[in-house]
Amino acid sequence: MIKVCVIGYGTIGKRVADAILKQDDMELVGIADVVPDYKVKVAYMKGIKVYVPKDKFESFKSAGIEPQGTVEELLDKVDVVIDATPAGIGAKNKSTLYIDRKVKVIFQGGEKANVADVSFSALANYSKAVGKKFVRVVSCNTTAILRVIAAYLNNGYKIEKVRVNIARRGADPHEYRKGPINDVILDPPKIPSHHAEDVKSVLPDINIVTSAIAIPVTITHLHFVNIVFKDGISRDEALEALYRTPRIMLFESSYGFRSSAQVIEWARDIGRHRADVPENIIFKDTVSVIDRNELMFLMAVHQESIVIPENIDAIRAVSGYTNMWSSIRKTDEALGLFMEGKVYG
Ligand code: NAD
Repeated sequence: MIKVCVIGYGTIGKRVADAILKQDDMELVGIADVVPDYKVKVAYMKGIKVYVPKDKFESFKSAGIEPQGTVEELLDKVDVVIDATPAGIGAKNKSTLYIDRKVKVIFQGGEKANVADVSFSALANYSKAVGKKFVRVVSCNTTAILRVIAAYLNNGYKIEKVRVNIARRGADPHEYRKGPINDVILDPPKIPSHHAEDVKSVLPDINIVTSAIAIPVTITHLHFVNIVFKDGISRDEALEALYRTPRIMLFESSYGFRSSAQVIEWARDIGRHRADVPENIIFKDTVSVIDRNELMFLMAVHQESIVIPENIDAIRAVSGYTNMWSSIRKTDEALGLFMEGKVYG
């Protein structure tokens, strides 16, 4: 059993913690946070052991959460740390908490790429993370883009260039202070957006340009993907590579799918915990091949859950587990993901 803890129990941390609880080769030793809010209280009520910095003991006790010990005590009990704190805190934790301990650490995409030895996407570069001390799972948008690029590279296609335009969700559902409201923001106000550089932190040789805007929704991002191949590709071949790739599903409009909200409603209807959708959802009827070698499609990306499977694979990789496909299968089975991309396509 790989002993794991989660530092930072927010949007990503609570989901990774629940995913760890579902793996038969991992044990969730505990979680740590600095704010005794409803999320941590829920974890505590579920029986998850909560660790906090020494100076936070009283505030957690006042909120009815009995800390199990300090963050340092938690770190001394584990093999692998998932750091899911807000962007920038992970880098601070690296120098104050992790660097001198024997733990392996997995950071999230909000950290700069140089926080880790490797930026990670299971389908694109699993083997590079095997045995490493510091690994960074790339952000939600980058994870989704890398999965589709990997779908083609892993099936023997050669890519000339990738162009992705991203309509980003303005905020996560719990972020009541954030906008935009009644606005469309250039986010960032330049091209390329940072997502292209982030993709290159995993696949340095890909010719990719990205742009992004933020829109007033909380449910998903939406990507306009354009991939130009070096050789010709038919629409059937383009679909087949997507079908064959884990964590990608194709949704067809004949089932009624034509919006992000429907994707989330589908997740509720099939009983997904938190209505999570860790798969890339590609709207099948948008999949088009133009001029023999240019593929276009639209894709919904559920930012709150898409990186969760990759975090689980990263735990195995840093622990020395070498078989990428076996890890991906194990993760996806435990999380109840569909193994067959054709269910709604
Ligand atoms: P969040 O704000 O929802 O949660 C962060 C949690 O960390 C909070 O509970 C906070 O109290 C806690 N925290 C803050 N400082 C801490 C400390 N020093 N020690 C322990 N806990 C601390 O953040 P999030 O959205 O889960 O983002 C976490 C990371 O994941 C970021 O790097 C982010 O960029 C990345 N990420 C976020 C999303 C997303 O859509 N939310 C998607 C992919 C990746």
